[in-house]
Amino acid sequence: VTDWQGKHVTVAGLGVSGVPAAKVLHGLGALVTVVNDGDDERARTQAAELRALGITVRLGDGATLPEGTELIVTAPGWKPDKPLFVAAAEAGVPIWGDVELAWQLRGPDAAPWLAVTGTNGKTTTVQMLASILKAAGLRTAAVGNIGVSLLDAVLGEERYDVLAVELSSYQLHWAPSLRAHSAAVLNLAPDHLDWHGSMEAYAADKGRIYEGNRVACVYNVADRATEDLVREADVEEGCRAIGFTLGTPGPSQLGVVDGILVDRAFVEDRHENAQELAEVSDVNPPAPHNIANALAAAALARAFGVPAHAVRDGLRSFTPDAHRIAHVADVDGVAYIDDSKATNTHAAEASLAAYESIVWIAGGLAKGATFDELVTGAAKRLRGVVLIGADRALIREALARHAPEVPVVDLEQTDTGAMRAAVREARRLAGPGDTVLLAPACASMDMFANYNKRGDAFAEAVRELGATGA
Ligand code: ADP
Repeated sequence: VTDWQGKHVTVAGLGVSGVPAAKVLHGLGALVTVVNDGDDERARTQAAELRALGITVRLGDGATLPEGTELIVTAPGWKPDKPLFVAAAEAGVPIWGDVELAWQLRGPDAAPWLAVTGTNGKTTTVQMLASILKAAGLRTAAVGNIGVSLLDAVLGEERYDVLAVELSSYQLHWAPSLRAHSAAVLNLAPDHLDWHGSMEAYAADKGRIYEGNRVACVYNVADRATEDLVREADVEEGCRAIGFTLGTPGPSQLGVVDGILVDRAFVEDRHENAQELAEVSDVNPPAPHNIANALAAAALARAFGVPAHAVRDGLRSFTPDAHRIAHVADVDGVAYIDDSKATNTHAAEASLAAYESIVWIAGGLAKGATFDELVTGAAKRLRGVVLIGADRALIREALARHAPEVPVVDLEQTDTGAMRAAVREARRLAGPGDTVLLAPACASMDMFANYNKRGDAFAEAVRELGATGA
């Protein structure tokens, strides 16, 4: 689309993507109608702001397709089976998400995109990637499903050489024409299946990230499903499949040899068959799943031509966001680790794999997950378990089935003091050299506003332990 003047565009959903999208489209001369399911305080404030600009807003009616709609721009979270979209499909109206809009408006011209998706590790990997690109002297930012919106990044004043883009499966679903320079799928585990309808549909949406890649499709050697997606993708001629592995890398792979991150895909010296990038200890924290994230970030950076020393410098200067395997304190020889961001079983599995002797604090909202596999994998490393939250019975039953010898404390308490009680119980179960790990494998909303608040409560309780020595 080049001529937006007088075009009837319906924006589905107010909020972080809808409000800026409506403003941008209105500014281009489109006739914008925003439809929104809810009619609460926040929606009314946002509606008032848009109406003042001359934009039509319909509150409490997100189902009806406005007369004459030529294009829908939707918030990424809106489910594909919504009546609005069914009506749009019948009327032949195209549907774009916020990422598609950014791409169509200026995506390819603003800067090449290095894109990352996966069930877990997206934010960390994109931030590592941005750190590496910066260390190479490139103008860049971590954008997308994280901090800065893509619309702001491509339309704003700031100029970029390259963008490090985090994309969710929802965003990919609604971004049919996106073409990245290079892209990575970190891993694929069941998540958000109610939204996508099936594991196949979820995988297919993730796989869109590879469509039309120009230089590299980066996949996880340990996760066959990601490699299958590369094989199914339609890419530009000359685009390479690049694997990352925690083991010794084969040709066209990045991996680990004797504690060194090694690149066998983009080798600078023609007489060598491998390029050393960094040491495992340069990765923060050096847990296995996070080394995988670092390798994926390095692969994308190398695909963009970044030299080896910048990979090392970028990894060294990277610090992870809060609540992602954050070391809170050591108290009496026990390490306390906050991985509140482990909100699903796949994430918790990764952090449980990173420690030897663990007192595990888990529980919350299970979102339909089962825990047998998680508990089986971790059983021999569990010294004790403290369960909190609404769905703790599911984990308790899995423990009874697969790790009956592990002591379990089942905390009924759900008030604000519950985390303090959990930490006290964990301390009781732990001995010197153990790790008390908050990796709930569940969402937090039954007890906390979000995973940040849950992690904060944990850290506070740990600090109290240290202060009182009690
Ligand atoms: P996302 O943006 O995909 O939610 P984050 O980088 O915020 O991912 O990490 C979320 C959580 O997922 C972390 O706290 C950690 O428990 C787990 N995690 C991170 N990287 C990986 C990975 N590569 N594989 C499995 N789990 C991971």
